[in-house]
Amino acid sequence: MDMEKLVSLCKRRGFIFPSSEIYGGLNGFWDYGPLGVELKRNIKDAWWRDNIQARDDMVGLDCSIIMNPKVWEASGHVAGFSDPMVDCRETQERYRADQLYVFRYDLGDHAGQTPRLLDVALTGATSADARAALDERITKLGNKNALPIKRKDLPEPTVVPYLELVAEDRARVLGPGALHAGTLTEPRAFNLMFKTSVGALESASSVAYLRPETAQGIFANFKNVVDTGRVKVPFGIAQIGKSFRNEITPRNFIFRSREFEQMEIEFFCRPDEAADWYAYWRKTRFQWYVDHGLASDKLRLRDHDPDELAFYSTATADIEYAFPFGVSELEGIAHRGNYDLSQHQKFSGKDLSYFDEERKERYIPHVIEPSAGADRATLAVLCEAYAEDEVGGEARTVLKFHPRFAPIKAAVFPLVKKDGMPELAEKIYRDLKRHFPVFLDEKGAIGRRYRRQDEAGTPIGITVDGQTLADGTVTFRDRDSLRQWRVPSAGVVQALRDRIEGAALPPEA
Ligand code: ATP
Repeated sequence: MDMEKLVSLCKRRGFIFPSSEIYGGLNGFWDYGPLGVELKRNIKDAWWRDNIQARDDMVGLDCSIIMNPKVWEASGHVAGFSDPMVDCRETQERYRADQLYVFRYDLGDHAGQTPRLLDVALTGATSADARAALDERITKLGNKNALPIKRKDLPEPTVVPYLELVAEDRARVLGPGALHAGTLTEPRAFNLMFKTSVGALESASSVAYLRPETAQGIFANFKNVVDTGRVKVPFGIAQIGKSFRNEITPRNFIFRSREFEQMEIEFFCRPDEAADWYAYWRKTRFQWYVDHGLASDKLRLRDHDPDELAFYSTATADIEYAFPFGVSELEGIAHRGNYDLSQHQKFSGKDLSYFDEERKERYIPHVIEPSAGADRATLAVLCEAYAEDEVGGEARTVLKFHPRFAPIKAAVFPLVKKDGMPELAEKIYRDLKRHFPVFLDEKGAIGRRYRRQDEAGTPIGITVDGQTLADGTVTFRDRDSLRQWRVPSAGVVQALRDRIEGAALPPEA
Protein backbone atom coordinates (compact mmCIF):
# COMPACT_ATOMS: atom_id res chain seq x y z
CA MET A 1 0.00 0.00 0.00
CA ASP A 2 1.19 3.40 -0.93
CA MET A 3 1.41 5.90 1.94
CA GLU A 4 0.72 8.85 -0.34
CA LYS A 5 -2.58 7.34 -1.45
CA LEU A 6 -3.65 6.88 2.16
CA VAL A 7 -2.67 10.42 3.12
CA SER A 8 -4.60 11.79 0.18
CA LEU A 9 -7.68 9.67 0.95
CA CYS A 10 -7.53 10.87 4.57
CA LYS A 11 -7.47 14.46 3.40
CA ARG A 12 -10.11 14.06 0.68
CA ARG A 13 -12.62 12.23 2.89
CA GLY A 14 -12.05 14.30 6.02
CA PHE A 15 -10.15 11.89 8.22
CA ILE A 16 -6.96 13.87 8.85
CA PHE A 17 -5.81 17.35 7.83
CA PRO A 18 -2.52 19.17 8.39
CA SER A 19 -2.95 21.42 11.43
CA SER A 20 -3.78 25.09 10.72
CA GLU A 21 -3.51 24.31 7.03
CA ILE A 22 -4.82 27.67 5.80
CA TYR A 23 -1.65 29.18 7.29
CA GLY A 24 0.62 26.59 5.72
CA GLY A 25 0.38 24.07 8.55
CA LEU A 26 2.84 23.38 11.34
CA ASN A 27 5.29 20.51 11.09
CA GLY A 28 4.41 17.67 13.45
CA PHE A 29 0.82 18.69 14.16
CA TRP A 30 -2.35 17.20 12.68
CA ASP A 31 -6.10 17.73 12.93
CA TYR A 32 -8.75 15.02 12.81
CA GLY A 33 -11.71 15.82 10.56
CA PRO A 34 -15.31 14.61 10.91
CA LEU A 35 -14.57 10.98 9.96
CA GLY A 36 -11.16 10.86 11.63
CA VAL A 37 -12.39 12.09 14.99
CA GLU A 38 -15.00 9.31 15.05
CA LEU A 39 -12.45 6.67 14.07
CA LYS A 40 -9.94 7.70 16.72
CA ARG A 41 -12.65 8.12 19.35
CA ASN A 42 -13.97 4.63 18.61
CA ILE A 43 -10.46 3.21 19.09
CA LYS A 44 -10.05 5.05 22.39
CA ASP A 45 -13.56 4.07 23.55
CA ALA A 46 -12.96 0.41 22.71
CA TRP A 47 -9.66 0.52 24.60
CA TRP A 48 -11.32 2.18 27.61
CA ARG A 49 -14.29 -0.19 27.57
CA ASP A 50 -12.15 -3.35 27.30
CA ASN A 51 -9.35 -2.35 29.67
CA ILE A 52 -11.23 -0.45 32.37
CA GLN A 53 -15.01 -0.77 32.33
CA ALA A 54 -15.16 -4.46 31.50
CA ARG A 55 -12.64 -5.43 34.22
CA ASP A 56 -12.75 -5.69 37.99
CA ASP A 57 -9.11 -4.80 38.55
CA MET A 58 -8.78 -1.48 36.71
CA VAL A 59 -9.75 2.14 37.36
CA GLY A 60 -9.40 5.25 35.21
CA LEU A 61 -7.88 8.65 35.79
CA ASP A 62 -7.65 11.99 34.00
CA CYS A 63 -4.71 14.14 35.15
CA SER A 64 -3.71 17.66 34.25
CA ILE A 65 -1.29 18.06 31.38
CA ILE A 66 0.89 20.54 33.26
CA MET A 67 2.10 19.22 36.59
CA ASN A 68 4.52 20.26 39.27
CA PRO A 69 7.90 20.24 37.47
CA LYS A 70 9.35 18.04 40.24
CA VAL A 71 7.37 15.18 38.66
CA TRP A 72 9.70 15.38 35.65
CA GLU A 73 12.80 15.53 37.82
CA ALA A 74 11.70 12.37 39.62
CA SER A 75 10.86 10.60 36.37
CA GLY A 76 14.22 11.45 34.86
CA HIS A 77 12.74 13.47 32.00
CA VAL A 78 14.47 16.75 32.93
CA ALA A 79 17.89 15.13 32.93
CA GLY A 80 17.55 12.39 30.39
CA PHE A 81 14.63 12.78 28.00
CA SER A 82 16.65 13.73 25.01
CA ASP A 83 17.64 12.51 21.60
CA PRO A 84 21.07 13.04 20.12
CA MET A 85 20.72 15.23 17.06
CA VAL A 86 23.00 16.49 14.34
CA ASP A 87 22.63 19.51 12.10
CA CYS A 88 23.89 19.73 8.54
CA ARG A 89 25.74 22.98 7.92
CA GLU A 90 25.22 22.64 4.17
CA THR A 91 21.52 21.78 3.90
CA GLN A 92 20.40 23.26 7.25
CA GLU A 93 18.53 20.00 7.91
CA ARG A 94 18.41 18.43 11.36
CA TYR A 95 18.54 14.68 11.98
CA ARG A 96 18.17 12.30 14.88
CA ALA A 97 21.63 10.79 15.09
CA ASP A 98 20.25 7.39 16.09
CA GLN A 99 18.26 7.28 12.85
CA LEU A 100 21.22 7.96 10.57
CA TYR A 101 22.95 5.08 8.83
CA VAL A 102 26.20 5.35 6.97
CA PHE A 103 26.92 3.43 3.77
CA ARG A 104 30.66 3.00 3.69
CA TYR A 105 32.47 2.50 0.39
CA ASP A 106 36.05 1.38 0.74
CA LEU A 107 37.60 2.95 -2.36
CA GLY A 108 40.93 1.19 -1.78
CA ASP A 109 43.60 1.89 -4.39
CA HIS A 110 40.95 2.72 -6.91
CA ALA A 111 40.70 6.23 -5.66
CA GLY A 112 44.42 6.82 -5.45
CA GLN A 113 43.61 9.61 -3.10
CA THR A 114 42.66 10.35 0.49
CA PRO A 115 40.27 9.89 2.09
CA ARG A 116 40.13 6.28 1.04
CA LEU A 117 36.61 5.90 2.44
CA LEU A 118 33.41 7.40 1.12
CA ASP A 119 30.73 7.55 3.86
CA VAL A 120 27.24 8.39 2.67
CA ALA A 121 24.61 8.93 5.35
CA LEU A 122 20.90 8.19 4.92
CA THR A 123 18.03 8.32 7.40
CA GLY A 124 16.26 5.19 8.59
CA ALA A 125 18.07 3.14 6.00
CA THR A 126 17.64 -0.27 7.59
CA SER A 127 14.28 -0.80 5.93
CA ALA A 128 13.72 -2.75 2.74
CA ASP A 129 13.71 0.52 0.83
CA ALA A 130 17.34 1.17 1.76
CA ARG A 131 18.71 -0.11 -1.53
CA ALA A 132 16.42 2.09 -3.62
CA ALA A 133 17.13 5.15 -1.49
CA LEU A 134 20.86 4.53 -1.75
CA ASP A 135 20.71 4.09 -5.52
CA GLU A 136 18.80 7.33 -5.88
CA ARG A 137 21.29 9.15 -3.69
CA ILE A 138 24.30 7.81 -5.56
CA THR A 139 22.72 8.68 -8.92
CA LYS A 140 22.17 12.25 -7.75
CA LEU A 141 25.73 12.54 -6.47
CA GLY A 142 27.01 11.14 -9.78
CA ASN A 143 24.97 13.65 -11.77
CA LYS A 144 26.40 16.48 -9.72
CA ASN A 145 29.98 15.17 -10.13
CA ALA A 146 30.20 14.76 -6.38
CA LEU A 147 31.57 11.19 -6.40
CA PRO A 148 35.33 10.69 -6.07
CA ILE A 149 35.28 7.86 -8.64
CA LYS A 150 32.95 6.75 -11.41
CA ARG A 151 29.67 5.36 -10.22
CA LYS A 152 30.24 1.99 -11.88
CA ASP A 153 33.55 1.56 -10.08
CA LEU A 154 32.02 1.92 -6.60
CA PRO A 155 32.48 -1.26 -4.56
CA GLU A 156 29.66 -2.77 -2.44
CA PRO A 157 29.11 -0.63 0.66
CA THR A 158 28.83 -1.80 4.26
CA VAL A 159 26.27 -0.24 6.60
CA VAL A 160 27.21 1.28 9.96
CA PRO A 161 24.90 3.14 12.37
CA TYR A 162 26.14 6.74 12.46
CA LEU A 163 26.50 6.77 16.23
CA GLU A 164 28.88 3.81 16.09
CA LEU A 165 31.45 5.78 14.10
CA VAL A 166 34.30 7.40 16.01
CA ALA A 167 34.23 11.21 16.07
CA GLU A 168 37.01 11.46 13.50
CA ASP A 169 35.00 9.38 11.01
CA ARG A 170 31.79 11.24 11.79
CA ALA A 171 33.54 14.45 10.84
CA ARG A 172 33.88 13.37 7.19
CA VAL A 173 30.51 11.79 6.53
CA LEU A 174 28.53 13.04 3.56
CA GLY A 175 25.21 14.09 5.08
CA PRO A 176 21.85 13.12 3.54
CA GLY A 177 21.17 15.54 0.70
CA ALA A 178 24.59 17.25 1.03
CA LEU A 179 27.13 17.54 -1.78
CA HIS A 180 30.17 18.09 0.42
CA ALA A 181 31.47 15.72 3.05
CA GLY A 182 32.03 16.83 6.63
CA THR A 183 29.10 19.18 7.09
CA LEU A 184 27.37 17.34 9.94
CA THR A 185 27.82 18.76 13.44
CA GLU A 186 28.68 16.53 16.39
CA PRO A 187 25.55 14.99 17.99
CA ARG A 188 24.00 17.16 20.70
CA ALA A 189 21.41 16.18 23.29
CA PHE A 190 18.10 17.92 22.74
CA ASN A 191 15.42 17.77 25.43
CA LEU A 192 12.10 16.77 23.94
CA MET A 193 9.89 18.40 26.57
CA PHE A 194 7.99 21.54 25.60
CA LYS A 195 8.69 24.24 28.16
CA THR A 196 6.17 26.81 29.24
CA SER A 197 5.77 29.17 32.11
CA VAL A 198 2.99 29.29 34.68
CA GLY A 199 1.61 32.59 35.98
CA ALA A 200 2.09 36.20 34.93
CA LEU A 201 5.79 36.49 35.66
CA GLU A 202 8.32 34.45 33.78
CA SER A 203 11.16 33.35 35.98
CA ALA A 204 13.19 30.25 36.68
CA SER A 205 10.65 29.23 39.30
CA SER A 206 7.69 29.53 36.92
CA VAL A 207 9.05 26.99 34.41
CA ALA A 208 6.72 24.10 33.70
CA TYR A 209 6.44 21.42 31.04
CA LEU A 210 3.73 19.99 28.83
CA ARG A 211 3.72 16.32 29.79
CA PRO A 212 5.66 14.07 27.42
CA GLU A 213 3.71 11.02 28.63
CA THR A 214 0.56 10.35 30.64
CA ALA A 215 2.19 7.68 32.81
CA GLN A 216 3.75 10.00 35.41
CA GLY A 217 0.37 11.48 36.31
CA ILE A 218 -0.71 7.97 37.24
CA PHE A 219 2.29 7.41 39.52
CA ALA A 220 1.79 10.83 41.10
CA ASN A 221 -1.79 9.82 41.95
CA PHE A 222 -1.05 6.28 43.11
CA LYS A 223 -1.48 7.19 46.79
CA ASN A 224 -4.72 9.13 46.13
CA VAL A 225 -6.26 6.19 44.33
CA VAL A 226 -5.16 3.63 46.95
CA ASP A 227 -6.38 5.83 49.82
CA THR A 228 -9.77 6.63 48.32
CA GLY A 229 -10.70 3.72 46.05
CA ARG A 230 -11.67 0.17 46.73
CA VAL A 231 -8.59 -1.04 44.94
CA LYS A 232 -6.36 -3.84 46.14
CA VAL A 233 -3.09 -4.98 44.59
CA PRO A 234 -3.05 -6.37 41.94
CA PHE A 235 -4.85 -3.52 40.16
CA GLY A 236 -4.21 -1.03 37.41
CA ILE A 237 -4.81 2.65 36.69
CA ALA A 238 -5.40 3.76 33.11
CA GLN A 239 -5.39 7.12 31.41
CA ILE A 240 -6.00 8.45 27.91
CA GLY A 241 -4.73 11.89 27.10
CA LYS A 242 -2.60 14.25 25.09
CA SER A 243 1.17 14.16 25.35
CA PHE A 244 3.68 16.51 23.79
CA ARG A 245 7.19 15.90 22.54
CA ASN A 246 9.26 18.35 20.61
CA GLU A 247 10.36 15.59 18.24
CA ILE A 248 13.39 16.53 16.17
CA THR A 249 12.12 14.82 13.08
CA PRO A 250 8.34 14.47 13.11
CA ARG A 251 7.49 12.29 10.15
CA ASN A 252 5.42 9.57 8.57
CA PHE A 253 2.07 11.32 8.84
CA ILE A 254 0.53 10.84 12.29
CA PHE A 255 3.09 8.19 13.28
CA ARG A 256 5.50 10.63 14.88
CA SER A 257 3.97 13.97 15.73
CA ARG A 258 4.70 16.60 18.35
CA GLU A 259 1.25 16.47 19.92
CA PHE A 260 -0.35 13.05 20.23
CA GLU A 261 -2.60 10.95 22.40
CA GLN A 262 -1.51 8.08 24.59
CA MET A 263 -3.48 5.26 26.13
CA GLU A 264 -1.48 4.05 29.10
CA ILE A 265 -1.93 1.49 31.85
CA GLU A 266 0.16 1.17 34.99
CA PHE A 267 -0.62 -2.19 36.53
CA PHE A 268 0.55 -2.52 40.15
CA CYS A 269 1.34 -5.97 41.48
CA ARG A 270 3.28 -7.91 44.07
CA PRO A 271 6.98 -8.23 43.21
CA ASP A 272 6.82 -12.04 43.12
CA GLU A 273 3.87 -11.98 40.70
CA ALA A 274 5.21 -9.30 38.37
CA ALA A 275 6.72 -11.70 35.83
CA ASP A 276 3.37 -13.47 35.40
CA TRP A 277 1.52 -10.16 35.01
CA TYR A 278 4.06 -9.05 32.44
CA ALA A 279 3.45 -12.22 30.43
CA TYR A 280 -0.30 -11.69 30.78
CA TRP A 281 -0.31 -8.08 29.51
CA ARG A 282 2.12 -8.82 26.72
CA LYS A 283 -0.25 -11.45 25.39
CA THR A 284 -3.50 -9.61 26.13
CA ARG A 285 -2.48 -6.37 24.49
CA PHE A 286 -1.25 -8.13 21.34
CA GLN A 287 -4.50 -10.07 21.08
CA TRP A 288 -6.52 -6.85 21.39
CA TYR A 289 -5.14 -5.57 18.09
CA VAL A 290 -5.67 -8.95 16.42
CA ASP A 291 -9.29 -9.01 17.61
CA HIS A 292 -9.82 -5.57 16.11
CA GLY A 293 -8.75 -6.47 12.62
CA LEU A 294 -4.95 -6.15 12.68
CA ALA A 295 -4.86 -9.84 11.96
CA SER A 296 -2.33 -9.98 9.16
CA ASP A 297 1.33 -10.85 9.61
CA LYS A 298 2.02 -7.12 9.55
CA LEU A 299 1.43 -7.13 13.32
CA ARG A 300 4.38 -8.42 15.35
CA LEU A 301 5.46 -8.82 18.93
CA ARG A 302 9.15 -8.19 19.50
CA ASP A 303 10.93 -8.86 22.79
CA HIS A 304 13.72 -6.43 23.56
CA ASP A 305 17.25 -7.79 23.72
CA PRO A 306 18.84 -7.46 27.17
CA ASP A 307 21.05 -4.58 25.94
CA GLU A 308 17.98 -2.60 24.81
CA LEU A 309 16.35 -2.63 28.26
CA ALA A 310 16.26 0.39 30.55
CA PHE A 311 18.40 -0.35 33.63
CA TYR A 312 15.33 -0.79 35.86
CA SER A 313 13.41 -3.02 33.45
CA THR A 314 13.67 -6.80 33.48
CA ALA A 315 11.62 -7.27 30.32
CA THR A 316 10.05 -5.16 27.59
CA ALA A 317 8.22 -6.07 24.41
CA ASP A 318 7.07 -3.91 21.53
CA ILE A 319 3.94 -4.50 19.52
CA GLU A 320 5.04 -3.48 16.06
CA TYR A 321 3.30 -2.95 12.77
CA ALA A 322 4.78 -3.16 9.28
CA PHE A 323 3.79 0.31 8.06
CA PRO A 324 4.53 1.23 4.43
CA PHE A 325 7.54 3.21 5.74
CA GLY A 326 8.91 0.34 7.83
CA VAL A 327 8.24 -1.83 10.87
CA SER A 328 7.62 0.49 13.82
CA GLU A 329 6.33 0.51 17.38
CA LEU A 330 2.61 0.76 18.10
CA GLU A 331 2.74 -0.02 21.79
CA GLY A 332 5.36 -0.97 24.36
CA ILE A 333 4.79 -3.31 27.29
CA ALA A 334 7.40 -2.85 30.00
CA HIS A 335 8.13 -4.56 33.27
CA ARG A 336 9.38 -1.52 35.19
CA GLY A 337 10.00 -3.06 38.62
CA ASN A 338 9.33 -0.56 41.42
CA TYR A 339 11.47 2.13 39.80
CA ASP A 340 8.78 4.78 39.26
CA LEU A 341 7.10 4.64 42.66
CA SER A 342 10.50 4.54 44.39
CA GLN A 343 11.63 7.63 42.48
CA HIS A 344 8.46 9.55 43.37
CA GLN A 345 8.78 8.44 46.99
CA LYS A 346 12.32 9.78 47.03
CA PHE A 347 11.56 13.10 45.35
CA SER A 348 8.23 13.85 47.09
CA GLY A 349 9.21 12.58 50.52
CA LYS A 350 5.80 10.81 50.70
CA ASP A 351 5.46 7.17 51.61
CA LEU A 352 4.26 5.36 48.47
CA SER A 353 4.47 1.84 49.87
CA TYR A 354 1.43 -0.40 49.97
CA PHE A 355 0.19 -2.49 52.88
CA ASP A 356 -1.01 -5.89 51.74
CA GLU A 357 -3.78 -6.85 54.20
CA GLU A 358 -3.86 -10.47 53.13
CA ARG A 359 -0.16 -11.04 53.54
CA LYS A 360 0.35 -8.51 56.33
CA GLU A 361 3.24 -7.17 54.34
CA ARG A 362 4.39 -3.72 53.27
CA TYR A 363 6.09 -3.21 49.90
CA ILE A 364 6.42 -0.88 46.94
CA PRO A 365 4.37 -2.53 44.18
CA HIS A 366 6.00 -3.51 40.92
CA VAL A 367 4.60 -2.08 37.72
CA ILE A 368 3.73 -3.48 34.31
CA GLU A 369 3.19 -0.68 31.80
CA PRO A 370 1.34 -1.27 28.52
CA SER A 371 1.78 2.08 26.79
CA ALA A 372 0.00 2.68 23.48
CA GLY A 373 -0.47 5.60 21.12
CA ALA A 374 -3.99 6.40 19.93
CA ASP A 375 -2.67 8.06 16.77
CA ARG A 376 -0.36 5.19 15.89
CA ALA A 377 -3.23 2.75 16.47
CA THR A 378 -5.38 4.90 14.18
CA LEU A 379 -2.69 4.88 11.50
CA ALA A 380 -2.22 1.09 11.73
CA VAL A 381 -5.99 0.60 11.52
CA LEU A 382 -6.11 2.84 8.42
CA CYS A 383 -3.19 1.02 6.78
CA GLU A 384 -4.63 -2.42 7.49
CA ALA A 385 -8.11 -1.41 6.33
CA TYR A 386 -7.05 0.21 3.06
CA ALA A 387 -7.77 -1.93 0.00
CA GLU A 388 -8.33 -1.47 -3.69
CA ASP A 389 -10.45 -3.99 -5.52
CA GLU A 390 -13.05 -4.27 -8.25
CA VAL A 391 -16.80 -4.41 -7.91
CA GLY A 392 -18.89 -5.16 -10.97
CA GLY A 393 -15.95 -4.28 -13.22
CA GLU A 394 -15.35 -0.93 -11.51
CA ALA A 395 -12.38 -0.07 -9.34
CA ARG A 396 -13.15 0.82 -5.75
CA THR A 397 -11.12 1.98 -2.78
CA VAL A 398 -12.42 0.57 0.46
CA LEU A 399 -11.55 0.95 4.13
CA LYS A 400 -12.31 -2.40 5.75
CA PHE A 401 -12.55 -1.20 9.33
CA HIS A 402 -13.62 -3.46 12.15
CA PRO A 403 -17.30 -2.47 12.66
CA ARG A 404 -16.51 -1.30 16.19
CA PHE A 405 -14.03 1.26 14.81
CA ALA A 406 -16.00 2.36 11.72
CA PRO A 407 -16.87 6.08 11.94
CA ILE A 408 -20.29 5.54 10.32
CA LYS A 409 -22.01 2.25 11.07
CA ALA A 410 -24.51 2.24 8.22
CA ALA A 411 -25.72 4.36 5.33
CA VAL A 412 -29.36 4.43 4.30
CA PHE A 413 -30.26 4.83 0.63
CA PRO A 414 -33.60 5.20 -1.11
CA LEU A 415 -33.06 3.38 -4.42
CA VAL A 416 -34.85 6.11 -6.34
CA LYS A 417 -36.23 9.51 -5.34
CA LYS A 418 -39.88 8.58 -5.81
CA ASP A 419 -42.69 6.18 -4.84
CA GLY A 420 -42.33 7.11 -1.18
CA MET A 421 -38.86 5.57 -0.94
CA PRO A 422 -37.15 8.78 0.32
CA GLU A 423 -39.74 9.08 3.12
CA LEU A 424 -39.28 5.44 4.18
CA ALA A 425 -35.50 5.80 4.08
CA GLU A 426 -35.68 8.97 6.14
CA LYS A 427 -37.76 7.18 8.78
CA ILE A 428 -35.30 4.27 9.01
CA TYR A 429 -32.44 6.74 9.18
CA ARG A 430 -34.14 8.65 12.05
CA ASP A 431 -34.75 5.40 13.97
CA LEU A 432 -31.15 4.29 13.56
CA LYS A 433 -29.70 7.73 14.31
CA ARG A 434 -30.97 7.49 17.89
CA HIS A 435 -28.59 4.56 18.43
CA PHE A 436 -25.68 4.84 15.97
CA PRO A 437 -23.83 7.30 13.79
CA VAL A 438 -25.51 6.68 10.42
CA PHE A 439 -25.70 8.57 7.16
CA LEU A 440 -28.54 9.22 4.71
CA ASP A 441 -27.55 9.56 1.08
CA GLU A 442 -30.18 10.21 -1.55
CA LYS A 443 -28.02 11.59 -4.32
CA GLY A 444 -26.62 9.84 -7.38
CA ALA A 445 -26.55 6.34 -8.81
CA ILE A 446 -26.78 3.61 -6.17
CA GLY A 447 -23.42 2.10 -7.19
CA ARG A 448 -21.71 5.44 -6.69
CA ARG A 449 -23.39 5.89 -3.30
CA TYR A 450 -22.14 2.44 -2.20
CA ARG A 451 -18.61 3.30 -3.30
CA ARG A 452 -18.64 6.61 -1.42
CA GLN A 453 -19.50 4.72 1.76
CA ASP A 454 -16.96 1.96 1.05
CA GLU A 455 -14.32 4.66 0.96
CA ALA A 456 -15.49 5.98 4.32
CA GLY A 457 -15.36 2.46 5.76
CA THR A 458 -19.10 2.15 6.45
CA PRO A 459 -19.75 -1.57 7.10
CA ILE A 460 -23.42 -1.77 6.10
CA GLY A 461 -25.50 -0.21 3.33
CA ILE A 462 -29.27 -0.26 3.83
CA THR A 463 -31.35 0.25 0.71
CA VAL A 464 -35.04 0.98 0.49
CA ASP A 465 -36.17 -0.45 -2.87
CA GLY A 466 -39.20 -1.71 -4.78
CA GLN A 467 -39.54 -4.77 -2.59
CA THR A 468 -39.64 -2.60 0.52
CA LEU A 469 -42.90 -1.12 -0.75
CA ALA A 470 -44.31 -4.61 -1.26
CA ASP A 471 -43.17 -6.52 1.85
CA GLY A 472 -41.58 -3.98 4.20
CA THR A 473 -38.06 -5.47 4.02
CA VAL A 474 -34.89 -3.55 3.16
CA THR A 475 -31.63 -4.71 1.59
CA PHE A 476 -28.57 -4.99 3.83
CA ARG A 477 -25.30 -4.95 1.89
CA ASP A 478 -22.02 -5.99 3.51
CA ARG A 479 -19.06 -3.75 2.62
CA ASP A 480 -16.43 -6.50 2.56
CA SER A 481 -18.15 -9.62 1.22
CA LEU A 482 -20.63 -7.56 -0.87
CA ARG A 483 -23.30 -10.04 0.18
CA GLN A 484 -26.85 -8.74 0.24
CA TRP A 485 -29.77 -10.01 2.30
CA ARG A 486 -33.17 -8.74 3.38
CA VAL A 487 -34.16 -7.49 6.82
CA PRO A 488 -37.66 -6.43 7.96
CA SER A 489 -37.59 -2.65 8.33
CA ALA A 490 -38.99 -2.92 11.85
CA GLY A 491 -35.88 -4.91 12.83
CA VAL A 492 -33.08 -2.78 11.36
CA VAL A 493 -31.83 -1.41 14.71
CA GLN A 494 -31.30 -4.89 16.15
CA ALA A 495 -29.94 -6.31 12.89
CA LEU A 496 -27.36 -3.52 12.70
CA ARG A 497 -26.45 -3.93 16.36
CA ASP A 498 -25.87 -7.66 15.79
CA ARG A 499 -23.56 -6.95 12.87
CA ILE A 500 -21.57 -4.27 14.68
CA GLU A 501 -21.14 -6.26 17.84
CA GLY A 502 -20.05 -9.21 15.74
CA ALA A 503 -22.89 -11.45 16.88
CA ALA A 504 -24.26 -12.05 13.42
CA LEU A 505 -22.18 -12.60 10.34
CA PRO A 506 -23.71 -11.79 6.99
CA PRO A 507 -25.73 -14.77 5.77
CA GLU A 508 -23.99 -17.13 3.38
CA ALA A 509 -24.49 -16.25 -0.26
P1 ATP B 1 9.71 6.11 19.56
O1 ATP B 1 10.88 5.23 19.85
O2 ATP B 1 8.97 5.76 18.31
O3 ATP B 1 10.02 7.58 19.68
P2 ATP B 1 9.03 5.70 22.25
O4 ATP B 1 9.58 4.34 22.49
O5 ATP B 1 9.76 6.89 22.71
O6 ATP B 1 8.65 5.84 20.71
P3 ATP B 1 7.16 5.60 24.35
O7 ATP B 1 7.84 6.63 25.14
O8 ATP B 1 7.32 4.18 24.77
O9 ATP B 1 7.57 5.74 22.81
O10 ATP B 1 5.63 5.99 24.21
C1 ATP B 1 4.59 5.03 24.22
C2 ATP B 1 3.73 5.12 23.00
O11 ATP B 1 3.35 6.46 22.73
C3 ATP B 1 4.42 4.66 21.73
O12 ATP B 1 4.33 3.26 21.58
C4 ATP B 1 3.63 5.37 20.66
O13 ATP B 1 2.45 4.64 20.32
C5 ATP B 1 3.23 6.66 21.34
N1 ATP B 1 4.11 7.76 20.89
C6 ATP B 1 5.32 8.09 21.41
N2 ATP B 1 5.84 9.14 20.75
C7 ATP B 1 4.95 9.49 19.80
C8 ATP B 1 4.90 10.51 18.79
N3 ATP B 1 5.87 11.40 18.66
N4 ATP B 1 3.82 10.56 17.97
C9 ATP B 1 2.81 9.68 18.11
N5 ATP B 1 2.80 8.70 19.03
C10 ATP B 1 3.84 8.60 19.87
